[in-house]
Amino acid sequence: MSPAVRFVNCCRHFGSIRAVDGVTLDIAEGEFFAMLGPSGSGKTTCLRLIAGFEQPDEGHIEIFGETAEGVPPYKRNVNTVFQDYALFPHMTVGENVAYGLRIKGVPLADREAKAKAALSMVKLGGYEGRRPAQLSGGQRQRVALARALVNNPKVLLLDEPLGALDLKLREQMQEELKALQKQLGITFVFVTHDQGEALSMADRVAVFNDGKIVQVGEPADVYERPLSRFVADFVGSSNVLSPAFASGHGGAAKWTSLRPEKVCVFPLGAKVGEGQSHADGEIKLISYQGAVTRFSVASGDMRITAEVPATETSFEPGNKVRLIWPKSAMVTMEDGA
Ligand code: ATP
Repeated sequence: MSPAVRFVNCCRHFGSIRAVDGVTLDIAEGEFFAMLGPSGSGKTTCLRLIAGFEQPDEGHIEIFGETAEGVPPYKRNVNTVFQDYALFPHMTVGENVAYGLRIKGVPLADREAKAKAALSMVKLGGYEGRRPAQLSGGQRQRVALARALVNNPKVLLLDEPLGALDLKLREQMQEELKALQKQLGITFVFVTHDQGEALSMADRVAVFNDGKIVQVGEPADVYERPLSRFVADFVGSSNVLSPAFASGHGGAAKWTSLRPEKVCVFPLGAKVGEGQSHADGEIKLISYQGAVTRFSVASGDMRITAEVPATETSFEPGNKVRLIWPKSAMVTMEDGA
């Protein structure tokens, strides 16, 4: 079976800026795929290449096995939900959702029925007559989604669709989007710079940096086994141990990632179990984060961060402590410099 989307060594340059720089990637049919990376790393340009708003300078793109180059956006069976929703303010919600069908010449009764069905899919049944200005941010976001879904696309592109929502609503929409994707079975390609969002929603994640994909895999895989310092730092936070430090503390002589939540803080002299490593050091900083408390501990020339559930702690900055972690939490990386 052909992948829903295939990039083969794709490049898109703007003058000297290599916005997309040699991307090769298959996105499977029915997959919820996240493109994650910092601002300017090329995610949106990749989405625009799939949509047909941009053409590759080099390389090749296929959508369901067919060459996409030269195929205009409206013939691609791909729809985009933009971050700013791009709703027409002078049209009602119903008219906004049915707009694409009207342009295609679908008869009135048919497009009204389809718009209604799309709106009920996003839980906005009965809102047809309102105007965008009479809706909350979350409701506008749903209208934008319904407007894309009404075309029955095979691939839905979502460019930071939850970026404008507050945290609570964002979390609620994350769950709803995920459920909707499973229900419809449409391929979703989701762009975000929020790692929590990518990890919680996607079947697979591609991490972008400087126009390149630096790692791609299932969320747990990317989080648990980062290949580089960039991924270890961008997807969550991490202690990047030097080869010398790692080998002196039960690991290999390689750049090593150690997640702060794997490190526990004990009084000096605490017993170290089998399969565990430890380092003694001095607490330099304690920072209360709500659910967790973060300790920054100086050990030799390393600063190690430990993140522990925020129970009452009697430690204070300046205390000498023993950090203990499972050896299995030390993950060697290809590139740590
Ligand atoms: P963000 O999260 O901020 O949207 P992004 O990862 O989606 O970032 P892109 O929008 O793909 O990044 O941009 C990648 C690079 O290409 C950036 O340096 C951007 O300034 C540049 N770029 C994108 N579109 C154009 C354009 N039309 N003309 C010139 N440069 C562009």
